Amino acid sequence: MKGQPRKTIMFIVDSFNPGALRRALDRKMVPAMEFLKSRGFFTDRCVSVFPTMTPTCASTIATGAPPSDHLVPGFVWFSRRERRIVNYGISPLAVRKMGVRRVIQDLLFNLNHIQLSRKVKTLYESLEEAGYTTGAVNPFIFRAGRPHRARIPLLVQILSAFGLGGKIWGPRKLYLGQICPPDAPEGKILTVLHCLRKFGVNDDYSGTVGRWLISRGHQPDLLTIYLPDTDGYAHRHDPGRSEESLRRVDRQVSKILGAFPSWDEALRRNTVILVGDHSQSRVGTGAGSTVNLGRELREFSQLDIGGENGPPRDISVCVNERMCHVYILRDRERLLPVLAERIPGVAGVDQVAWKERDWYHLVQAGGKRLSFRPGRDYWDEYGQGWALAGDPGAAGARLDGHRIVFGDYPDALAQIANLLSCENAGDLVVTARAGFEFTGEYGPSHQGCGSHGSLHRDDSLVPLFVAGAPFHASRPRILDLAPYIRSQFGLA
Ligand SMILES: [Zn+2]
Repeated sequence: MKGQPRKTIMFIVDSFNPGALRRALDRKMVPAMEFLKSRGFFTDRCVSVFPTMTPTCASTIATGAPPSDHLVPGFVWFSRRERRIVNYGISPLAVRKMGVRRVIQDLLFNLNHIQLSRKVKTLYESLEEAGYTTGAVNPFIFRAGRPHRARIPLLVQILSAFGLGGKIWGPRKLYLGQICPPDAPEGKILTVLHCLRKFGVNDDYSGTVGRWLISRGHQPDLLTIYLPDTDGYAHRHDPGRSEESLRRVDRQVSKILGAFPSWDEALRRNTVILVGDHSQSRVGTGAGSTVNLGRELREFSQLDIGGENGPPRDISVCVNERMCHVYILRDRERLLPVLAERIPGVAGVDQVAWKERDWYHLVQAGGKRLSFRPGRDYWDEYGQGWALAGDPGAAGARLDGHRIVFGDYPDALAQIANLLSCENAGDLVVTARAGFEFTGEYGPSHQGCGSHGSLHRDDSLVPLFVAGAPFHASRPRILDLAPYIRSQFGLA
């Protein structure tokens, strides 16, 4: 271990909407965020990864790798290796259809232990291997080398016919609601008091356990506090008006900063990062704002949840709110061009993208087409070089000489390339137009409320605060955070 670096605390807010933050700051509802903003780096234009779904974004924040490398392509996807649909529980109906046991097995065990590529390291793995201590409260991604017994709540045990159990491998200090509570007696009391909602996977428990750790003098070198509640709030309201939920997020940030003699002292001792995994945008009201892509493609036979052992099918449509993966299960050469032609004509679809050899192809519903691959002809705002053929307007971009300037789809080329190069992504990936959402047999549906998943800036731009240590990035992305944190500890 080199020297004695300062500690890092990272808050991850699920569905952090920049518009709601602006309102909350204007109305003085979020004093801790206002404090962090005044003391360090702040942007409300940090770019997430595509699809803007928590398992994908959280994997990127925890590893610094894009989906092409970490291999987690969304909330709902088809595993070609296992020939089955993976669904981390996107809706109660989906959970019922999949069975509680399979959903929890995937979410709690397989996501971290199997599906997240072993070729990438989480921050917890990198830091603990280098002799630092790490911890996380209620994280989505937690893989590291310490075994913890998973205590499955009785209700979940009953619903899964007592088929769940075993160890989860995480950082030295891992707290996951009732499933992985603190060992100390007072920690157990905290768990009883704060675990009534969502088995403890809630903002209040995250903040309370984080504060408890710090006040007992057990703060690890890296502590991640995941705050899940704003996602549900934004799904039930207008996400641009989720400032009430941000007020509650702010209370948790205050709790943690308040564990130090003063907020300024907290920043003298720690680098504090506050970031969203993705944002949300508002879906229109009325049935016209939802797109049932599976139904629109009914001329193709489709594999759905539970049909894995049935007869062979043409495709599988995996709905991730405002994006869809379309997997071609047979006859790819024939079906790919047919689907690529057919899908942009479906009302409510925004873009369709696919990969052939080393070219990525993108078609916008309006008819604009762009093919691109890494090259040296044009350069985007993130310093990435591309060869282009067609109309950059398909990606909402324009050319200024040899410069690519993005509009409504920040970092669109790398976002698409990083997903389509992921071996678990669909053969085609599809996004919904602003105000639209994909739906299927199992939902969910968020008419008049928030949804996410697409490439659009409304889904993919999040606030980022870094205070206590210098942070420089003119075009920050959530991809930058893990390398930054590693560099804080002197790791490459
Ligand atoms: Zn969500």
